[in-house]
Amino acid sequence: MHDPLNWLDDELARLAAGGLLRKLAVRSGPQSGLQVILNGESLANFGSNDYLGIAASLSQGNIDDAVRQAGWGAGASPLIIGRGEFHARLEAALAKFEGTAAALLFPTGFAANAGTIAALVGPGDVVFSDALNHASLIDGCRLSGAQVVVYRHCDVAHLRELLAAAPAAKKKLIVTDSLFSMDGDLAPLVYLTELAEQHRAMLMVDEAHATGVFGANGRGVSEHLGVEDAVHIRVGTLSKALGSMGGFVAGQQRLIDWLTNRARTYFFSTACPEAVAAAGLAALSIVQEQPQRRIELLARASQLREQLRAQGWPLPDVGSQIIPLRIGDAEPTMRFAAWLRDQGFFVPGIRPPSVPAGQSLLRLSLTWQHDVGTLSRLLSAVGEGRKRFVKSDYLRGEVGLRISPSPRPYFQKRGEERE
Ligand SMILES: *Cc1c(COP(=O)(O)O)cnc(C)c1O
Repeated sequence: MHDPLNWLDDELARLAAGGLLRKLAVRSGPQSGLQVILNGESLANFGSNDYLGIAASLSQGNIDDAVRQAGWGAGASPLIIGRGEFHARLEAALAKFEGTAAALLFPTGFAANAGTIAALVGPGDVVFSDALNHASLIDGCRLSGAQVVVYRHCDVAHLRELLAAAPAAKKKLIVTDSLFSMDGDLAPLVYLTELAEQHRAMLMVDEAHATGVFGANGRGVSEHLGVEDAVHIRVGTLSKALGSMGGFVAGQQRLIDWLTNRARTYFFSTACPEAVAAAGLAALSIVQEQPQRRIELLARASQLREQLRAQGWPLPDVGSQIIPLRIGDAEPTMRFAAWLRDQGFFVPGIRPPSVPAGQSLLRLSLTWQHDVGTLSRLLSAVGEGRKRFVKSDYLRGEVGLRISPSPRPYFQKRGEERE
């Protein structure tokens, strides 16, 4: 008998033939930068976004208290049943942390991005989106029904042209990751704020990988580059450096009021358990009270980048904790990753659809917990693997093109000399 799902066999076989079929590992115990146990195998973990080493430590009293006080499930969406005290406290704490009038807590960062874009623009409006934006921003653009204009990655001149070509009367939104999740580079936010101002566009910045890591107070790249006051919509997540779960938007009160009424991923979705909000509060305290974690992390990241550059890896001069080792094709990338695993290191291979075809890479993600010994052993292994798995002509050729020949001005802080 014909089963209408039979097409799945062909599609799955096609993925397998292209080396793109994912089988998810089962993790045991807590993960940290020190260790992750995958399918029973203990590995040094370079695949975690738990940048400050918080996730495994959020298990204590305040969370138990929240469960005792509020139980577990939130019961219904906030539109129906309101939000819990812990949700409200976390929102107030996030607004205080971000220095904004208000903040809104979404179930995830994905939901925050998708729902916010769709609430801000619609048919007849235009949204300008960086070519390497995260999937949640891309899906938000699609969901909105607005005209989507994609500008080349971090290419200010291209965005300027596209903005100039758009009708002045239309409502405009510029949207970007602040720290790009696969390339580890920073958006040219000083330039984007200027363009937004010139063209009366709203500017939305997704700080998912930068919250807790960048900026003197850990508020992200907007803080690091001194442009917070010119970013209209700031998005962050509690699921990465904060080691918990949940996304948030911070900004003016009227923005939050609008999202409360119009962001469908907010009010048609049940809020996280209040204990999760309590974990978010605990994580936020660690970020605020222990700035040395982010300072040490970024110092170590800069040092490792320098050592990798000396091995011949093309890395732009940005000191972020996400370090892409560009390989090219998916197949050698995955063989390199498997070989590293045999050496005791978990470094995820990133292949399509997470990156465009032919741009597969190993994504090294550093956390505050990585110690000097592990890093130096990793460095040797990566150097050895590079000889085995990477075609040097690829590194000199196409990949070079992905790195802006003069990225420096883009990463300058507001008020600094321009080249
Ligand atoms: C991970 C990520 C998100 C989604 O955050 P979650 O809280 O995990 O849903 C959004 N934007 C970027 C850039 C991300 O990397």
